[in-house]
Amino acid sequence: MKLIFLGPPGAGKGTIASRISKDLNIPHISTGDLFRKAIKNQTELGKKVQQIIESGDLVPDALTVALVKERLNNPDVENGYILDGFPRTIKQADSLESFSKIDNVINFVISDEQVIQRLSGRRMCKNCGEGYHIENMKPQKEGICDKCGEELIIRPDDTPEAIKNRLAVYYESTAPLIDYYKEKGLLLDIDGAQEVGKVAEATSKAISK
Ligand SMILES: [Zn+2]
Repeated sequence: MKLIFLGPPGAGKGTIASRISKDLNIPHISTGDLFRKAIKNQTELGKKVQQIIESGDLVPDALTVALVKERLNNPDVENGYILDGFPRTIKQADSLESFSKIDNVINFVISDEQVIQRLSGRRMCKNCGEGYHIENMKPQKEGICDKCGEELIIRPDDTPEAIKNRLAVYYESTAPLIDYYKEKGLLLDIDGAQEVGKVAEATSKAISK
């Protein structure tokens, strides 16, 4: 089963992908992880990615595609995979089509208000990185990490301003992929506003049809 997970930031793609990946025994491939790993291993592509990220630029389509293509040559994708965070543009989607055939694209549907509510409530321990949410995953003591007792902070990309930017980038570059895959008959809409267990359940059901 070769799957793409689409949806705005905060739609829960990563969380659902980890669950489905375990259920189906297929790898969860996120471009963020691919970048980090390539940099850590100082591969040819990793060195290029590092240079670009350090200079504050966005990793260009061609380089991202090259990394994904390399990853999809790994024997563990024999039974399929879940792509999370890729493709991010029509150009990337066209490239992907030239080297792998997707079975389904899961589109997690969630309103902007819900995205903002979810992301702006996230907190992170500044010491150990443990994640919390002021409504759904409260620490025992407000503003304090359960694990290490340090202060909880808002990640720079979860500030209201940053969330608005992330949504704008999503609508501009990634949302057009919804129509792109709908026209190919691959799109499955899932209500991403439900509780995470229900979203995972609905996803499993949709892909097993
Ligand atoms: Zn902590």
